[in-house]
Amino acid sequence: MIVRRVLCPGSFDPVTNGHLDIISRASNLYDEVVVGVLINISKQSLFSVDERVEMMREVTKDYGNVKVDKFHGLTVDYCRQHDIPVIVRGLRAVSDFDYELQIAQMNHRMAGVETLFMATNPLYAFLSSSLMKEVVKYGGDISGLVPEVIHQRLVERLRGEK
Ligand code: ADP
Repeated sequence: MIVRRVLCPGSFDPVTNGHLDIISRASNLYDEVVVGVLINISKQSLFSVDERVEMMREVTKDYGNVKVDKFHGLTVDYCRQHDIPVIVRGLRAVSDFDYELQIAQMNHRMAGVETLFMATNPLYAFLSSSLMKEVVKYGGDISGLVPEVIHQRLVERLRGEK
């Protein structure tokens, strides 16, 4: 049997309901979804890669076909090593498009890996991990925009509250 596998790569610092929406929709279309948490040494993250992986595992534990892993280097190298022919990326607005198109074309040229773009759920189109961090830092309310466990972790990390 051929297992249809797809990669959802990203920084997920931290995971939002926008990410989860894409991951759950991808899990309805493919046999297996691998969420690849990127180790990016040149990008300062709020949560370490192991924390991001652990949080992602926690919030995707009810999906039977979602696996979470971490990787560094080229996304297409990870795809080749794990026999994953397709990457799924969410598109929020035209502002995402130029960059995403460029990466998708490069990935196809390098390794023949296809990228499929999924239109973001309009409920979450304005969400980004950075915006969530900014709002929490200054005491704003992000309930309903990230899972409750993630909300707590953000408050703890950014405001030092338990
Ligand atoms: P990156 O650092 O690679 O941009 P992110 O963690 O921000 O990683 O995003 C990972 C993936 O999730 C990307 O495909 C991105 O377009 C998608 N994404 C980010 N925010 C949202 C959102 N609010 N709704 C749907 N998809 C999103």
